[in-house]
Amino acid sequence: MTLNVKRCLKEPISEISLAADLLSQSVLAHFEGDSILAEHLLNKADIPAIRDWTESIWGQAGVYSQLVKTLGNPKTLPKNDRDSIRIPSKSLELELLKRDGFNCRFCGIPLIRKEIRIFFQKKYPNAVRWGKTNPEQHAAFQAMWMQFDHLIPHARGGKTSKENLLITCAPCNYGRMNFLVDEIGLIKPNTDLENLSTWNGLENGFIH
Ligand SMILES: [Zn+2]
Repeated sequence: MTLNVKRCLKEPISEISLAADLLSQSVLAHFEGDSILAEHLLNKADIPAIRDWTESIWGQAGVYSQLVKTLGNPKTLPKNDRDSIRIPSKSLELELLKRDGFNCRFCGIPLIRKEIRIFFQKKYPNAVRWGKTNPEQHAAFQAMWMQFDHLIPHARGGKTSKENLLITCAPCNYGRMNFLVDEIGLIKPNTDLENLSTWNGLENGFIH
């Protein structure tokens, strides 16, 4: 039996908080009309150490790939036996945001919704790189990319429901693949938080 003792397999590095600060400052500069400073700060937040951290989780040599070598890939259900809906609706996403806030429920890093990243990609295409391969993507926006993660993986029969979804970062979501938290010693994330962090995913300044 595996003991559930960790919140995540790889703790975040300090550069992620630094990038979050730089991105917050960039948003302020943008809405104050200083696009040169905004672009400079977006560039500065593209920190190579964050990419290395991401790769150490989801990459070929990452912590989960090591687990696959020892445990093998979990068996998945045939497509017809899975929940026919995999992507949550916008209203379910909003409910999850309200419950979980803007931090990864596994590793705790600050997150940014895809829609916000795309806004900055369009305004600052040279700074917010978003190419087809992983190294061609802005390191901070990639690691901090908000996910709606199935706690019991969809491919193993997990439902697309408020009870089974939680907000996570891209490395924690894609890294975990189809493992259950119990199989790899992760603590089931708490989704009944009394206090959410003050990080708001760069959403100040945006009108919903
Ligand atoms: Zn995470």
